[in-house]
Amino acid sequence: MAYPFYGKGLKFECQQCGYCCRYEPGYVFLSEEDLQALLDHTGLDRKEFIATYCKTADLGIEKRISIKEKPNNDCIFWDEKGCSVYEARPFQCRSYPFWPMIVENRESWEGEKKYCPGLDKGKCHSRGEIEDWLEKRVNQTLISR
Ligand code: SF4
Ligand code: SF4
Repeated sequence: MAYPFYGKGLKFECQQCGYCCRYEPGYVFLSEEDLQALLDHTGLDRKEFIATYCKTADLGIEKRISIKEKPNNDCIFWDEKGCSVYEARPFQCRSYPFWPMIVENRESWEGEKKYCPGLDKGKCHSRGEIEDWLEKRVNQTLISR
């Protein structure tokens, strides 16, 4: 692999603005591990949890389970104190912003700053740490419907 632009690490520290959890509809996909952690956290069974907190994302080639939004487009797990399932939040949320499309190159990282004020702030995350998130993502199997 060529030396990546994040070879010396990337700074990121969440500024708790809530923007990535609120205001717009989107998809937060779940793996079996994500779902199990949320079941343990909420105490609900699978059927009840999916009926209450999930929607179907029709991606054309497949349909996946995603966390749904409230009528105001905030994530259904967002409350006035932040993420109400923080310890059990899905991999997609935990691994942000170390997603392939964001760390692909300097331009994509810089472009993401429009959406997240935490990029290039605070703690420096090493190349190893970033690649660990990328590798874990490859091993995720997301739940289809
Ligand atoms: S947009 Fe960035 S800074 Fe704001 S809550 Fe999300 S991760 Fe944190
Ligand atoms: S599960 Fe939590 S961290 Fe993920 S989008 Fe919803 S409120 Fe945000």
